[in-house]
Amino acid sequence: MNAMLILKGEGVSPGVAKGTAFIYIDVLKRDTEFYKIDDAQIAGEKVRIEKAIVDVRRNLIIDAKRMEGKLGKESADIFLAQEAMLLDRTIIEDLKKTLEVERINAEHVIRMAFRLLASRFRELNDPVLRERGDDIDDLSRRLLLSLAGIQAHSLEHLPANTVLVASRLLPSDTVFLSRTTTVAVIAEFAGRAAHAALLARELGIPCVGGVPKLLDIVHAGDLLLVDGAKGEVIVKPDAQALQHYEEAGGELQREKDARVRACRAGRAITCDGCAVSVMANVRSREDVELAMELGADGIGLFRTEPFFMAAKHFPSEQEFTRFLLESLSPARGIRIDVRLLDIGADKNPIYLHLPPEPDPFLGRRGVRVLREYPELLETQLSAVLQVSRQFQIGILIPMVTTEDDIVGIAARLRELADNMGIHERPRLGAMIETPAAALSVSMLRQYVDFFSIGTNDLTQYTMAAGRESSTVTEYFIDDHPAILRLIEIVVQEAGDTPVSLCGELAGRANAMSRLLNTGIRSLSVAASLVPDIKNAIRHARVL
Ligand code: PEP
Ligand code: MG
Repeated sequence: MNAMLILKGEGVSPGVAKGTAFIYIDVLKRDTEFYKIDDAQIAGEKVRIEKAIVDVRRNLIIDAKRMEGKLGKESADIFLAQEAMLLDRTIIEDLKKTLEVERINAEHVIRMAFRLLASRFRELNDPVLRERGDDIDDLSRRLLLSLAGIQAHSLEHLPANTVLVASRLLPSDTVFLSRTTTVAVIAEFAGRAAHAALLARELGIPCVGGVPKLLDIVHAGDLLLVDGAKGEVIVKPDAQALQHYEEAGGELQREKDARVRACRAGRAITCDGCAVSVMANVRSREDVELAMELGADGIGLFRTEPFFMAAKHFPSEQEFTRFLLESLSPARGIRIDVRLLDIGADKNPIYLHLPPEPDPFLGRRGVRVLREYPELLETQLSAVLQVSRQFQIGILIPMVTTEDDIVGIAARLRELADNMGIHERPRLGAMIETPAAALSVSMLRQYVDFFSIGTNDLTQYTMAAGRESSTVTEYFIDDHPAILRLIEIVVQEAGDTPVSLCGELAGRANAMSRLLNTGIRSLSVAASLVPDIKNAIRHARVL
């Protein structure tokens, strides 16, 4: 196809961009593919196998420790036996020999070799040894996931001016996206609250979602023009379209620069005199720098998932502390709310091996995972406590539903702070993201110093419409009267306890008056939106 083509979708992050298509395919699917390798690739594939083995062994030891604490030594031994198998030089040599002889990729070698090994065990008479077949399947799966984890980093080194083209982007796929290389994102499936959209808004780059058959039409290397406000993608633009883009793009950029300059400084106060604090949602040092440059009053949500999802092993307290210190250093002296890890549902770090669930979004997620894995909680609390010696830190607990979700964490925080000799503990806050939490604020407030309303999840759970589900986007209405009513209840019932709001709704200029009428006076939005939201507040009227 050489002619220009215009594709229509839903504009989910504004802006225009020109760039080259990079087609991103689900790593697990791609990894299961079989491909031949040549002489020059053999050494590299061997290294991949070795690395995956080291990685899986390290994770098996971590799992063994966890199991020992939870279920006793016998359960831990299962993992240690698996780990011991990976020390067996004959297995490793067999894998390498197969690779050399068959000249096929590492994934395929592992799949073939472990399938054969598992079937041998399954043919044995001893029932205990027969069971080992399942352990071998599990090892194979872990190795394949580890290899996939390594490949997931293909987004780490994208060329400049990339337009990322994907069927769907999950959080684990996007941890390495950077505004320095990616100029736009387009996806077959992505509504306003999908992670791809959220990320694009945070990066301040245009994003168009809901473009049917995108991957059949766009090919790697195609030149694309993306208009994130109109929801339009032009494939292989002709000279006229390019000229129009240059003019319109230049004009938009000039307008944007002028708006930013005019709006970023000073407090945001409505026409009728209500002061509203505008903080930023961030996930990296790059975001924190942008937030500071664009006049954010604080960091209202530091999402820690990208750091934990990017790691190939369970990060240590020192690693997490270093990451926080490095990321937060431009925000010294202002309020910073760091959210504890919100994983589960669609975010599963490869080293945790969370078991699959029938209803992932209604299953073990956020604080529920932290209650299950105390060492994961402790690593984070200890790191945040360290950092709190230098910064004005608050800790946010994700996905709270009941009092018990807070009480245990509050107690652990106290203990750890006492052990570390920290008398001025960081503020503790609860995310209000479930209707149950919203309706229990008068009870929950005795345990926390502040609340933060996450309207993305609150909408998903109130409207019974999945935020990643493209089939029910018409039900995902985050400014529905039911949501605004819940916000109002939270603000009223919180009494003196401060409440802020950090879901995507906070970044929607057209909903500002209605939002402020719920009584909310503190917002946190994607860093790139801070000036626009300050501007919208200055034009809003509170009844
Ligand atoms: C929310 O749910 O509104 C929120 C801010 O959290 P996240 O989007 O990271 O789930
Ligand atoms: Mg949430």
